[in-house]
Amino acid sequence: SIDLRGIGKHFDRTQVLAGIDLSVKEGEFLSLVGMSGCGKSTLLRIIAGLEAPDCGSVFIGAEDVTSCDPSDRNLAMVFQSYALYPHMSVRQNIATPLRMRLLTLPARLPLLGRLLAPRAVLDQIDAAVAKAAETLQITHLLNRKPGQLSGGQRQRVALARALVRQPAAFLMDEPLSNLDAKLRVHMRDELAALHRRLGATFIYVTHDQTEAMTMSDRIALMIDGRIEQLGTPEELYQQPATLAVARFIGSPT
Ligand code: ATP
Ligand code: MG
Repeated sequence: SIDLRGIGKHFDRTQVLAGIDLSVKEGEFLSLVGMSGCGKSTLLRIIAGLEAPDCGSVFIGAEDVTSCDPSDRNLAMVFQSYALYPHMSVRQNIATPLRMRLLTLPARLPLLGRLLAPRAVLDQIDAAVAKAAETLQITHLLNRKPGQLSGGQRQRVALARALVRQPAAFLMDEPLSNLDAKLRVHMRDELAALHRRLGATFIYVTHDQTEAMTMSDRIALMIDGRIEQLGTPEELYQQPATLAVARFIGSPT
């Protein structure tokens, strides 16, 4: 599980997050929703370790990771921009996080590093890339460059790259917002299917309530840096705690 306790954050004099408490269960699909500027991305970046909170703690399992580097949190972040390396093939893009981790293995685990010949490491990377590509049905695209892919295919490559690391959780910030409407609906179904298949924890940021309502186990609706309501899609829809929740859930996308 991922536990946030009393997370607060200021930028200049503006309070962006005001004491966020949130427990995300193992294997849960939790969406963070709310209007532009309510603090969704900032909260996700704090969970990922890309931003430090002013106060409060982030726990992954029983471990307090608040002062850990992003690389020590074993979380995979998927952005709306995909952030693929344009000069690398799809295969190399997917392999990069593993290469970075496994080829520095000797420094961190000297004994294991000596036992693992580089060839074995490379085979291990190849196998992991092949498996992730198969899961996302992009095996036929492995030798292409990102520039030769459609938006949905690029999104799948970004997901495969997150997948190879076997992260404790996937953190996604509006990953579908650059896709056209039709592809967005298609990828929405694919993401939901991927979540079911992996059984992994997903924290999914969106300002699209339809996305959140259809994919999530629970939704945390944020207003001005606070969580206004946390519940299942049915609970938010049928028993909105405040008028603001009812407005947000009921407003057209
Ligand atoms: P959107 O739906 O538009 O992506 P969001 O909910 O993700 O919005 P955040 O990006 O978390 O919102 O930003 C929350 C507030 O913090 C906004 O008012 C934003 O202007 C401010 N903010 C975010 N990052 C910084 C920064 N590095 N410096 C100053 N202010 C920032
Ligand atoms: Mg954002």
